[in-house]
Amino acid sequence: MPKKTVDIKPYDPKANLAFVKEGDLSRHHKPGGNPQIDPRLIEEHLKRTGGKVITRFPPEPNGFLHIGHAKAINVNFCYALAHGGDCNLRFDDTNPCAEEEVYFKSIEDTVKWLGFTPTRITYSSTHFQKLYDLAEQMITIDKAYVCECTADEMKADRGDKGEGVKGGARKNCRHHGRPAEESMKLFREMKDGKWPSNSITLRMKMDMENPNPQFWDLVAYRVLHAAHHRTGNDWCIYPTYDYTHCLVDSFEDITHSMCTTEFVASRESYYWLCDVLKVYKPVQWEYGRLAITNTVLSKRKIAKLVESKIVEGWDDPRLYTLPALKKRGFPAVAINEFVRELGVTTTTSTIQVGKLESAVRTVLDIRCARRMAVVEPLRVTISNWSEVVKTQSLKLTVANSPKDPNAGSRDIILTSELYIEASDFREDTGDKSFYRLTPKQAIGLLHAPAPIEFVLVNERNEDGSPRSITCAFVTTPLKPKTWVQWVAIHEDSTGLLSSPIPCTINLYGNLFAHENPHDAEGGFLADITPDKGLTVKQGFVEAALRLTKQEPNAERVVYQFLRNGYFCVDTVGDSNRPWIFNRTVTLKEDSEKEK
Ligand SMILES: [Zn+2]
Repeated sequence: MPKKTVDIKPYDPKANLAFVKEGDLSRHHKPGGNPQIDPRLIEEHLKRTGGKVITRFPPEPNGFLHIGHAKAINVNFCYALAHGGDCNLRFDDTNPCAEEEVYFKSIEDTVKWLGFTPTRITYSSTHFQKLYDLAEQMITIDKAYVCECTADEMKADRGDKGEGVKGGARKNCRHHGRPAEESMKLFREMKDGKWPSNSITLRMKMDMENPNPQFWDLVAYRVLHAAHHRTGNDWCIYPTYDYTHCLVDSFEDITHSMCTTEFVASRESYYWLCDVLKVYKPVQWEYGRLAITNTVLSKRKIAKLVESKIVEGWDDPRLYTLPALKKRGFPAVAINEFVRELGVTTTTSTIQVGKLESAVRTVLDIRCARRMAVVEPLRVTISNWSEVVKTQSLKLTVANSPKDPNAGSRDIILTSELYIEASDFREDTGDKSFYRLTPKQAIGLLHAPAPIEFVLVNERNEDGSPRSITCAFVTTPLKPKTWVQWVAIHEDSTGLLSSPIPCTINLYGNLFAHENPHDAEGGFLADITPDKGLTVKQGFVEAALRLTKQEPNAERVVYQFLRNGYFCVDTVGDSNRPWIFNRTVTLKEDSEKEK
């Protein structure tokens, strides 16, 4: 029995943690080194944590994670791993209207798929009562007030002159000076469901004079008569991100609250809120966001692609969400290595998509078993088979991987009827740089006993291209210029080696024409490529692919189809459904363009 595939060693998330010990991350404070408004807060914090580093990855459960989140996950989990600390996966679930079970599950699965195990899985909603109590405390100490302004009034008070023109004079709203008792009464009415959704808010009493917009009396609570995924109908007021985020960091004793540089302005208000409430204050550290070219990552834009049916869903392999990359066959280790190689600085980096693909190739090249497949089949009959080979078929034992002798071998059958890639044959003999089969040039069939030469075209397709040809083994000594892959036509009594296996092959390319689809004329939707980044082919693969069924995660195994690229199993075929393979990456960066 041939060995199934090349062994994939379990991924060790602790391997290669150097990136969190160098550059900006090497300058982070030690636990206990963060000053507090009251020194007792740090003593108590250290007592609770024992001086451990504690980080968190805090996604909002209202969408799927994308390649940019892979950086946030690596930064937070690896920083904790490198310092013997903890990392929480925290669902920042304060917006019941946008949250769905599917997002919680997908986020948890994705973190696990990348190889990380959260120390705890936590939810901001666990703290709804505590957050509410602190909000009442804010009112009592005159640091919050209930405001009945509309969204437009709030904007105007913050210096918004309408139509996107900002920078006007700012002023406190008419409720800013409301007595604490009155605010308290109204806030309790909000909690008790006496106010309609979005009619009234609790705002933090900050400083409209401060040049930082994060000080312009941020909203802490809004009314939303909506059931929450975890707390059901217990609440009809929900805390905002600005109010919740830093306090839950505080409750969880986070030492390093790492986030992207968009939140630099929030750092000051984060500290302000912790200090006003005299709670333990973590340190916020910012790093540059990761984006890649030729795609869009924003939830809104991806939602548009899904709604417009340009892609089939959030995990469509043409997207760069992490579920999409998993479906396309990107190994988690390659994504982690890619992120770590880039390092962590405060600069936002937009990386060429080719660099990510190159990281994927590096991993797949070492780890993938090789298989023979034809994406665009051309049928070949070898006319002098019986003169050269004395049996009806020839069993060949071939290595699974040229790079790994431990990967074992498999048996493949060669017969007089087979398929080669249509592009491996040209009737025109004029192109001297074409080394494959022409009427004047023989080619080798990988592992076959002799090269073949062209005899005649048997059948043509409607467009005139050859559908089947006759060839013959070259019986005189000849070293062909190149060897090509093939898939033989062969019935096997056990069924196991019957060949070929018909399959659907999805060739993924770029969904967008330009590196930055946002800047394209007419917007990102006008930048979609004519083929929408997908060409579907009906091809054949060799019999050994059947063994994929025995793999524990059969629908993610990636193979190198020799000269065609790397392909992952999307659907394991059976009598009811065809096999489907997704092209993970081409063999070389430019092989797509060369065609
Ligand atoms: Zn107001």
